[in-house]
Amino acid sequence: MTGRVHLVGAGPGDPELITVRGRRLLDAADVVVHDRLVGPGLLELIPTGALRIDVGKAGYRHAVAQPEINATLIRLARAGFEVVRLKGGDPFVFGRGGEEAEALRAAGVPFDVVPGITAGVAGPAAAGIPVTHRGVARSVAFVTGHEDTSAGGPPIDWSSLARIDTLVVYMAGRTAAVVTRSLIAAGRAPETPAALVLDASLPSQEVRLAQLRWLADAGAGPTDDRAALLVIGEVVGLAPRLARTVPRRTQLQRNEVPA
Ligand code: SAH
Repeated sequence: MTGRVHLVGAGPGDPELITVRGRRLLDAADVVVHDRLVGPGLLELIPTGALRIDVGKAGYRHAVAQPEINATLIRLARAGFEVVRLKGGDPFVFGRGGEEAEALRAAGVPFDVVPGITAGVAGPAAAGIPVTHRGVARSVAFVTGHEDTSAGGPPIDWSSLARIDTLVVYMAGRTAAVVTRSLIAAGRAPETPAALVLDASLPSQEVRLAQLRWLADAGAGPTDDRAALLVIGEVVGLAPRLARTVPRRTQLQRNEVPA
């Protein structure tokens, strides 16, 4: 009998931030196929009897190509296994979970989707930034900083995005300078507060507060290959009051460009 594939969101990395259903499915899995972004604490929760397959998708590098991941999931399910496809954050937010779901559907493999807390919400929260706030921000948009020209589709519409109150940019480590320049060129105020959140919810978490113009000039600074998220908008101004610990002041502020 064909097994089932569960596309499970792991949350941002802290093992306590997976859903109850995700955890239950993980406990019962025969096979767990996971990305690199799934935190080390979560990998420890994989039952010792379960087969663990690391398809190690790390930001820009794809250790295993997407068609091969799809084929692996289909093969495992057809062999009768209960498969958990564990993906960082939410499977349908910049996680290519939709492509995996399409491939499973086309192959006639039963699957379900268990949402996870996406980094775009968990990251700002960890930094003390509410993505909306009464009187401050009534709209929020999630966008990728990694403009993949090979994927087709229209280019990112920075002029429209420049008018959204809060902007959360995924895959922002290497793209911070380009993204912030595009936003300033599209009319966003250069003084807009921004925060770079690295490895949110993990012990290696770091928050850097900046302004758009500094990022446009200096980029994100060293990220040591950590997952990087950029939060832009007036809500970032709430971070020093709401963060459990005041975000560490960094290089970006010392590098401030004179007005
Ligand atoms: N499906 C995931 C996103 C995958 S794309 C989700 O819903 O969260 C990978 C990008 O997610 C990274 O480049 C980074 O921008 C962001 N990201 C994932 N985990 C993160 C974390 N713990 N801290 C900061 N950013 C993170």
